[in-house]
Amino acid sequence: MSIFKPVEVSTQATTSRTGYDLTPLSPEFRKELATPLSIEERRVMLEHGTERAFCGHFLDNKKTGVYACRLCGLPLFRSTAKFDSGTGWPSFFEGFDPDHIRNISDHSYGMVRTEIRCRRCDGHLGHVFNDGPRPSGLRYCLNSVSLSFFNEGTEPPQHVDPTAKPGIKA
Ligand SMILES: [Zn+2]
Repeated sequence: MSIFKPVEVSTQATTSRTGYDLTPLSPEFRKELATPLSIEERRVMLEHGTERAFCGHFLDNKKTGVYACRLCGLPLFRSTAKFDSGTGWPSFFEGFDPDHIRNISDHSYGMVRTEIRCRRCDGHLGHVFNDGPRPSGLRYCLNSVSLSFFNEGTEPPQHVDPTAKPGIKA
């Protein structure tokens, strides 16, 4: 059994512990990936908005699999870490790989919160709070629009920047 530790990750690392390419995407490629998104989805992912509670399509998803970044396909959470937080947003107690999520101090709306972003594409995911269940004690609060779900056994397609150096295929 693995116990999640919020280890500080090196900003230099271009390959995560689970073998995914973390080379940052260029702004152009990121924009290209965001093209199919709706205005509302773009507001959440690119402008750090929050979707309304109890509206997200993954809130009650009970399927087994992996939740990946909607923009670039980086795996972010396993269904086994999903729990019902009662908040109205999909919630997880640990990440797929701590290297895949970047924590940023967020002082908007007069609160001090920790924003979470995809490490590869910098897309906004939601926030992380320290009132989650044991053993991690963390509650990752997600916007459904920031996620794509892949059933167990399906590998999320990886959108790696074609202009960056060749990435490691997971
Ligand atoms: Zn991403």
